[in-house]
Amino acid sequence: MIRFETLLEKVRGYSPDADLELLRRAYVFSALAHKGQVRHSGEPYLVHPLEVADLLADMKLDVVAVSAGLLHDVVEDTLTTPERIRELFGPEVAHVVEGVTKISAIPFSSSEERQAENFRKMLLAMVDDIRVILVKLADRLHNMRTLKHVPEERRVKIAQETLDIYAPIASRLGMSKVKNELEELAFRHIEPKAYEALRVRVEAKRKETEGVVDELIRRLRAKLEEAQVPVIQLDGRTKRLYSIHLKLRRQNIELEQVYDFVALRVVTDSVRDCYAALGIIHQTWSPVPGRIKDFIAMPRPNGYQSLHTSVISERGFPFEVQIRTEEMHQHAEEGIAAHWKYKEGRIGDHGDERYFQWLRQLLEEQREVRDPQEFLQNLKIDLYPEEVYIFTPKGEVRALPRGATAVDFAYFIHTDVGHQCVGARINGKIVPLRTRVQNGDIVEILTQAGHRPSRDWLTFVATSRARGKIRHVLQAEERARSIELGRRLFEKEARRFDQNPRTLIESAAAAALAAEYGTGKPDELLAQIGYGRMSAKFVLQRLVPDDQLKEKAPESAVVSVVKRVLGTSSGDDKIKVKGTDDILVFRARCCNPIRGEKIVGYITRGRGVSVHSTTCRNVMNHMFDPERRIEVEWDTSGGDVAAYVVRLTMQVEDRKGMLAELSAKVSDINTNITNMEARTGDDHLARIEMTVEISDLKHLEKVIRSLKNVPGVLGVERAARA
Ligand code: MN
Repeated sequence: MIRFETLLEKVRGYSPDADLELLRRAYVFSALAHKGQVRHSGEPYLVHPLEVADLLADMKLDVVAVSAGLLHDVVEDTLTTPERIRELFGPEVAHVVEGVTKISAIPFSSSEERQAENFRKMLLAMVDDIRVILVKLADRLHNMRTLKHVPEERRVKIAQETLDIYAPIASRLGMSKVKNELEELAFRHIEPKAYEALRVRVEAKRKETEGVVDELIRRLRAKLEEAQVPVIQLDGRTKRLYSIHLKLRRQNIELEQVYDFVALRVVTDSVRDCYAALGIIHQTWSPVPGRIKDFIAMPRPNGYQSLHTSVISERGFPFEVQIRTEEMHQHAEEGIAAHWKYKEGRIGDHGDERYFQWLRQLLEEQREVRDPQEFLQNLKIDLYPEEVYIFTPKGEVRALPRGATAVDFAYFIHTDVGHQCVGARINGKIVPLRTRVQNGDIVEILTQAGHRPSRDWLTFVATSRARGKIRHVLQAEERARSIELGRRLFEKEARRFDQNPRTLIESAAAAALAAEYGTGKPDELLAQIGYGRMSAKFVLQRLVPDDQLKEKAPESAVVSVVKRVLGTSSGDDKIKVKGTDDILVFRARCCNPIRGEKIVGYITRGRGVSVHSTTCRNVMNHMFDPERRIEVEWDTSGGDVAAYVVRLTMQVEDRKGMLAELSAKVSDINTNITNMEARTGDDHLARIEMTVEISDLKHLEKVIRSLKNVPGVLGVERAARA
């Protein structure tokens, strides 16, 4: 067991001017508070805070953090209050202890919703003072080291939580030493059999290769010395069990195929020496193509820097070499803790900024996300980033998560660039926005002022940042539209009963109804109607006493033409909603109804009224909710003719001149063809797709009839989607 005096000496060693008296008082207080408590191992409880404090001292953290380590469990496990800690040890120590206590109180095993909320709280605590999470990680590390004493069912739960939450956070903060140990310990407790089996195999293989590795190290050292590249550290290590385990499972390969099983690590003096060493290694052994990674020029988002290469020895033995400077090495092992060292009374430096930036950004982006599942999903993307590196047109390197698209990159640059992006140029070529960027691409985003994000983008963006920003805009637009739609529907219903809609919605009764449904303002009632969550009739019935609610003459016919059209349909759709003027409608894309067809409206959740053909399969399925159903009809008053884009598919005999004949036939009846494609099959048959512009159902029927009359045409059908 570690003694307090040893800890004191350790802190004095890296921080001679530290307030060691604070540390001593914290120790005495902790010893008294935990007096009589024992751990699962049977040891006095005090061992735990002392070990945690020692881990923090190993990270060379300041006395506030180390004192907080000594005190981290007193509020949770003893009668001590946070106020008492504040009185005795000052606001900083109290703040860190409170933060750690709050995180410890988070029950991670509960529902997904709670888990997401808890994670959010934890991130908040981190942003507040990074020492909170450093103390918590030290606490978790010591608990994991002593996990074998804990009863089995709790053991697995704690180990899983470590793997799911604490190890990724350590990784994101660049603390690979802590992360690695947490993962190894968690793996061992979650899958003890797999762990043990793998350990035995790896140990055997390690023994087998020991001599080889020693020889490789000797050889490399000689080569580097000969070239006068300084060697500060040179050693060989076998890959950790957990990462081997993941690799075997993910790639479904055998242990023998893991060619970074052994890694040599060279720590040298300067960046220049790193590249010099890389050159020497490649002169000595053959590099494996595609395995050279330059994390010096392109650091990982968590700040990791190093050169990696895989080579094959003369005797066919594959291994990896990692090359870095001493400073990079320290940051690779300790991450944010390396920045947080005691520096003559000052804490941290500007290097912290990148970690904090990540945290702040993550929180800012997640603030809007209400769906816990989505929050966790986003968090996963952010915690386990696999990067691609791309270039801006100015030649600057940017790291994006693997799978990121041009739109993700646009949002990465700036929110407004994201909203207004209309296209992208990759390596000089214009590409669709959904294009995934690849390593080495030069990506340029094209913008247009006033452009808004599209709902489609949500189907392909890969980063939570882009997703959150797009959603935010869409939701605001949806809400505005729903209020508008709700207002129209309510006005229509009110008029039917000869009521004044405006007076009603501004009445005290409306405010009371809004309050009853917890929606606040009457505007929200309208939004509820527009979203299809409440019917206009229901609201009306609640606002007007029964005896005053008498229906006027039967519903008047159509009032006017729809002027605004939503969605992706083009042209001026002549659809109106019975009994209203100017309601927000759009033609559903699934059945693409054209004028003359029987249609029905459906109040969508936030996107206005979608108009379907009555025979549309989606309608049959969706129309179970009669409250959302709404009558619509084609406007017959309009003079000009709208053009609907309709796609036809045909089965024809594969003969010469067929395409020309078909298009001539269609042109004869003054019909515009916008696209035509043919695919020939084996059996002398061809399938033709033709996209035509149609004014109404009669027109379409005429086109289909004339196509069917062409000799060799076996069938003509209207495609489900436009
Ligand atoms: Mn603890």
